[in-house]
Amino acid sequence: MTPTLEISRTRFLQNLAAVHERIGPAQLMLAMKDDAYGHGVEWAASVAKDAARPVEMFGGYDVHTSLRIRAQAERATVFAWADSSDDEIERALHARIQLGVGSADYLRRVIDVAGRLGLTARVHLKIDTGLHRNGIRPEDWPRVVADAMTAQQSGLIEVVGVWSHLAEASDAEDDESARAFHDAVDVVRAMGGAPQALHLTASAASWWRPELRGTVCRIGAFCYGIRSADGPEIPGVTPIAALRARVIEERAGEVVIGLGAYHGLPSILAGASIGTPGGVREIVRIDATSTLVRDWNDARVGDTVTVFGPGDQGESDVTALAERIDTVGEEIITRLTSGVRRVIVD
Ligand SMILES: *Cc1c(COP(=O)(O)O)cnc(C)c1O
Repeated sequence: MTPTLEISRTRFLQNLAAVHERIGPAQLMLAMKDDAYGHGVEWAASVAKDAARPVEMFGGYDVHTSLRIRAQAERATVFAWADSSDDEIERALHARIQLGVGSADYLRRVIDVAGRLGLTARVHLKIDTGLHRNGIRPEDWPRVVADAMTAQQSGLIEVVGVWSHLAEASDAEDDESARAFHDAVDVVRAMGGAPQALHLTASAASWWRPELRGTVCRIGAFCYGIRSADGPEIPGVTPIAALRARVIEERAGEVVIGLGAYHGLPSILAGASIGTPGGVREIVRIDATSTLVRDWNDARVGDTVTVFGPGDQGESDVTALAERIDTVGEEIITRLTSGVRRVIVD
C-alpha cells in the first residue's frame, strides 16, 4: 500500500505546448532543479525533448543534474548556473554544458579550466539586477565583461548569453530590473559581444509580463502544472502529478490512510481536504506514517484517496495545499520522500 505520485505524460506535454504557445517567439528553457521539481529528471527530459514541439533548452541548475539531462538529450542546450568546482566545470565542458557565470572569480576559474582543457566554454554572464543573490554588480559589470571579451578573443570562452533573475515582488521593481538588464546587454554589445540568449523571466513573469521576456524564458513550475501561490489558474496548464494513498484501517468512523510525515507530507497540513470515493473529507491529523480522516462512513480498506492533483473526487491542487501553510506548491512536491513511489501514467 505504498503511496504514489502519479505523473501524467499527456498533461506534461499539454503544458509544454501551452507554454510554448504563450511565450513564442521566445524559446523555452525547461527548469529541472530538484529532480525536475520532484517529477524525475530522466523522465522529464526524455519526454520534453521528444515532444511534438521539442524542448531544446534545459536548465539543470548544477552540473550533476545537467549531466543527467545531457545523457537524455544529446543535442539540446543544457545550462548550469550553480557556482561549481573546477572538477565540475571540467566535466561540464566535456559534456558541452553551458555555464551561468555570476562573479569575476567564477569567470576566472571557467577561463582557466577551458585553457587547461583546450576547449571553449560557452557562458551566460549574470547581471545582478537587484536581487543581490548572485550576479555581477552593475558597477563591476564593464570590467568583468571586458575580461570576458579578452578571453573570447583567445577562444577560451564564448559569451552566448546574458541573464538575471527577477524578484517578482512588484511590477515596478521588475521593470527597474529589466532596465538594468537591458543596460547590461548594451554594454556587452558595445564591447563587441553578440549574446543570443537573453533571459530574465521565470514562470509568472514569462506568462504575465510579455514585455519582460528576452529571447529565452526559464520556466519550471508552469510546465509541471504548478501555479504560483496566490496566483490565478493558468489557461491550458493543468497539474501533472497526483498524490494518492490507500485506506489501511477503518474503525468506528475513523479512517486511517497510509501516508504520513515520513513520506514528506507536512504534518501542519492537518485541516486540509482530500478527495475520497465518498467525496471531499477533512484531514484530522498527520502522524509519522499515517493520516487520520473522520466523517467518512462507508470507507473500506484499500480505497484510494487523492491528496492533491487531477482527479474527480474534489481534491485540491498542490498550490492550494501549499497556501494553507504559506509556502509554494514546488515545496510540497519536492519534499515527498522515496517512500512515495513515482508512477508514470498516460
Ligand atoms: C527555479 C528557477 C527558475 C524557474 O522558476 P519557476 O518559477 O519554477 O518557473 C528560473 N530561473 C532560475 C534561476 C531558477 O532558479
